[in-house]
Amino acid sequence: MSESVLLQTLRDVFGFDSFRPGQREVAEALLRGEDALAVMPTGAGKSVCFQLPALLLPGVTLVVSPLISLMKDQVQSLVQNGVRAAFLNASLSPRQMETVLLRMAKGRYKLIYVAPERLALPSFRAAVAGLEVSLLAVDEAHCVSQWGHDFRPSYLQIASFCRSLPVRPPVCALTATATPRVKDDIVRLLELQTPHFVSGSFDRPNLCFEVEHPRRKFVALRRRLDLYADKSGIVYCSSRKKVDELCEALSELRYSVAGYHAGMDAETRRKNQDDFLFDRKRVMVATNAFGMGIDKSNVSFVIHFNIPGDMESYYQEAGRAGRDGSAADCVLLFKKSDLAIQRYFIDNPEENEALTEAEAAALRQNRLEKLRIMEEYADYEGCLRQFILAYFGEKLSAPCGNCSGCLGSRLSVDETETAQKILSCVARLKDAAARAAVVAVLKGRAEAAERYGENSTFGLLSDMAESEIESRVAFLCEQGLLQLQNGVLRCTGAAKDVLFRSRHVRRMADRPKMHNRGNKTAAFEGQPDPVLFARLKKLCIEIGQKKGISPSAVFSDLTLKKMTLLDHPSLQSLLTVPGVSLQKYESYGIIFLKEILAYQTETNQTE
Ligand code: ADP
Ligand code: MG
Repeated sequence: MSESVLLQTLRDVFGFDSFRPGQREVAEALLRGEDALAVMPTGAGKSVCFQLPALLLPGVTLVVSPLISLMKDQVQSLVQNGVRAAFLNASLSPRQMETVLLRMAKGRYKLIYVAPERLALPSFRAAVAGLEVSLLAVDEAHCVSQWGHDFRPSYLQIASFCRSLPVRPPVCALTATATPRVKDDIVRLLELQTPHFVSGSFDRPNLCFEVEHPRRKFVALRRRLDLYADKSGIVYCSSRKKVDELCEALSELRYSVAGYHAGMDAETRRKNQDDFLFDRKRVMVATNAFGMGIDKSNVSFVIHFNIPGDMESYYQEAGRAGRDGSAADCVLLFKKSDLAIQRYFIDNPEENEALTEAEAAALRQNRLEKLRIMEEYADYEGCLRQFILAYFGEKLSAPCGNCSGCLGSRLSVDETETAQKILSCVARLKDAAARAAVVAVLKGRAEAAERYGENSTFGLLSDMAESEIESRVAFLCEQGLLQLQNGVLRCTGAAKDVLFRSRHVRRMADRPKMHNRGNKTAAFEGQPDPVLFARLKKLCIEIGQKKGISPSAVFSDLTLKKMTLLDHPSLQSLLTVPGVSLQKYESYGIIFLKEILAYQTETNQTE
């Protein structure tokens, strides 16, 4: 098959200008009559690998696919492209089934999608016996393996079906799961014959991976949704109940949300899905039942409200963001307590008669191990992308610079209340306000009870770890709200604004947070502050001189003016300012933020 025919078909039928990595290689192997195993991440374009040869081969291509919705989707888009395709599954009425079988017998289809269960039916085998089957494609091939994250016993029948055909066609297995065990299982259990192995890179450079450890996840979620303003995204939860709860709570707060889980009736599911797909609703809150086969290109964020059970699921779900290649965020909101529900799922698996007791025990062990790795990811402090890619057997030589581990920037949180508690404790202890005493009183330590039990701030922060209280105290010193004099803490003038007026204290969240690579606009309103602008300009001049570059190469005046308008200055909000590139943010972010905060503190003091 000449190269140009392949490319021409790709253009004509699918409307794509060029191949994605791996597509041509798989297609060519199949056209040569070889088996192939394609391991490529979600969104890489696996379907084309077998759909293209299917069009060029003389007979029909059978495609085994695990989900009805998946088949429907693919068949619909093929038909839209003028390809004769159909599916056979339980969603068809007996009449429709008959029609499809009749047309199939007449050789009217180039591709037929079937559920794996059907392959074992004698009636189906009889119907196929008279056909020229040119290719057998097994989509989501990891379903054949118990070591995958989605084992389906019916996949085990595929090999015997293949043997039953008068002429064995080339077999193409496709999956996004790359662990060696699963790959071995696919080759062995599908009886692939020296398959041509193609593995795409699992890296999705446009995705920014983040893990947040929020104290209150709902607050963190709202903050995210506000941050993403009018962008479209998915929020994944681990239970139907949680989906319902979040949907209700968010709708009440007037967020544009739709829900999706397997407990809803088909009609509601379809409606909600369409609302999301057609941008009538901005946010989809769903269980993992949502998303297979969904190809919405403008998903700008995927937030996991609960930790999923394994890396495969996480990467697949998170990977639904940024399919059009534009920058998108994948955020895991992690709380240790969420591990319990995953453990529950592991301990209460769906009935699986195909497994012996020993196999079931091994499977359980395997799942626990996968969950442990997922937890490791949530706690990982290095480059998250390196972690992910290493899991899928790929090595990223340098940290990616586009994840919360690398960027170390933080989402700021309002900590006014905590600050007020600490400041009033200091004010009450007066000359006794040594740092250790302040911590002991706020924590409500037993030893401090005798002396300070009457103090109205005693035990006010009892549910906070002492190390955390200490770091808050240090933070308030940094912010110029507390001062250390001769070993005693004192409130500064600025502290009064926090205690008695409405000055807010914001602190970077505990976990790194990186955001906004220039594609989001914050609300800039009002006139730029000329005094602050002059100070920032001076900073630019100083830096420029030191580095031998022009001041405007540091930041343009426009960028500086916008910086003066930030109402809650933080590292993260700096990134929302047009002209603050990732590189500049890394080089100068802290310096400029400090200047802005210092200025604010000073002006607050003089007011
Ligand atoms: P996978 O099965 O690997 O998750 P799909 O086959 O569903 O991926 O394809 C993902 C998306 O990529 C689809 O929107 C598809 O139209 C698109 N796509 C596939 N191949 C190409 C290509 N060569 N050029 C542009 N887009 C492509
Ligand atoms: Mg696919």
